[in-house]
Amino acid sequence: MGLALEVGQWYDFVRIKQLRNFLKMTITPANRIKDLPPYLFAAIDKMKQEAIARGKDVINLGIGDPDLPTPTPIIERLQAASADPGNHQYPSYDGMPSFRRAVAKWVQDRFNVTLNPDNEVATLIGSKEGIGHTPLAFINPRDVALMTSPGYPVYHAGTLFAGGISYFVPLLEKNKFLPDLGSIPIEIAKAAKIFFINYPNNPTGAVANVAFFESVVAFARRYNILICHDAAYSELYYDGGTTPARGTTPASVRPASFLEVPGATEVGIEFHSLSKTFNMTGWRIGFVVGNKDAVAALLKVKSNLDSGVFQAVQEAGIAALELPESQLEAIRKIYQERKDLFIGGLNRLGLRVASAEAGFYVWINTPPNVTSTAFAARFLSEADIVVTPGNGFGEAGEGYIRVALTCAEERLVEALRRMEKAKIFG
Ligand SMILES: *Cc1c(COP(=O)(O)O)cnc(C)c1O
Repeated sequence: MGLALEVGQWYDFVRIKQLRNFLKMTITPANRIKDLPPYLFAAIDKMKQEAIARGKDVINLGIGDPDLPTPTPIIERLQAASADPGNHQYPSYDGMPSFRRAVAKWVQDRFNVTLNPDNEVATLIGSKEGIGHTPLAFINPRDVALMTSPGYPVYHAGTLFAGGISYFVPLLEKNKFLPDLGSIPIEIAKAAKIFFINYPNNPTGAVANVAFFESVVAFARRYNILICHDAAYSELYYDGGTTPARGTTPASVRPASFLEVPGATEVGIEFHSLSKTFNMTGWRIGFVVGNKDAVAALLKVKSNLDSGVFQAVQEAGIAALELPESQLEAIRKIYQERKDLFIGGLNRLGLRVASAEAGFYVWINTPPNVTSTAFAARFLSEADIVVTPGNGFGEAGEGYIRVALTCAEERLVEALRRMEKAKIFG
């Protein structure tokens, strides 16, 4: 063969070269993706899928997603608002004035806190969105963010994405799952820019009182730290009950807002979610309230990344915030009954409940020398029940599992029956 290539050969040559280049190409994610903590639920997820594939009747007590439907007045408001062409364009980035006014009124009525709806309230695409973007507004690379362990994973992920360093303050049973502020090293406190706290707490179910929030305000002032309080479960509280089943549950009152404490608005913001309160997890709407400079900084990030919440959904959000208290009472009653039934059953089986004050989670100690992961695996393999291993929420969650009461009573009864039969605690 001579040096010259036939036309057809030339094309083959080019194609092979392109193919070679293509095969050589590697997609390399940024370190912020690679540095994300391992997904600790992956093993449980895999076991769950396998059990379902084998035709098992799996009871899912793993996910924090209400099984109850969204109340009808909210759905009807969405139906009407979605038909209005006035709602079909880009919404304003900080939220509709009418939604922000409804938020301010709700916060006033519920917590007796007065907010300026023009600059102390902003609409979020669910509180997760606002929480995840908060570090981008306040954390420079290598700045420190404080957060609790166990905790909602988004605090750490958001911090990582901003290039910050997470410092985990453990939530210990002996401290009723409140962080011991005195245990935070002074150099860390001085370096910290934000502190994520969350009460009523996911996953522990613990509630904070006003005295705790007062100590947080003092801590924030002393070290110049912005407090970011996640109040996603503020409306899921119970009256303390009277049945023996509630032995581990202290009489709870309506959880406080962080903003109720004098001076809180100078040092903090609070995230609220309509998801858990009104059974609206799929709707994607929440809000942030509090310090106006902090709200403005978060909105600066958001206005560059998203374009707000569909106005019809904000209208539906107004309908939610205006629901009569009786509607929320009905929702709380359902969880209260589930809680009494389930904790009562656990107590009869001799299992210790570490905490289940508010929210819809039960935080349960694993038996001695059994890890969270092993215990969760045992639930699935021996009783076809999905629970969440506590270490999935951080190292300090080791030694616990989380049960979500997001299924009907008869399923909880069946779960208890299976647990007894399998001697899961033996
Ligand atoms: C569910 C949850 C959220 C997020 O709720 P949204 O649906 O994004 O409003 C935030 N924080 C905690 C602790 C949660 O459990």
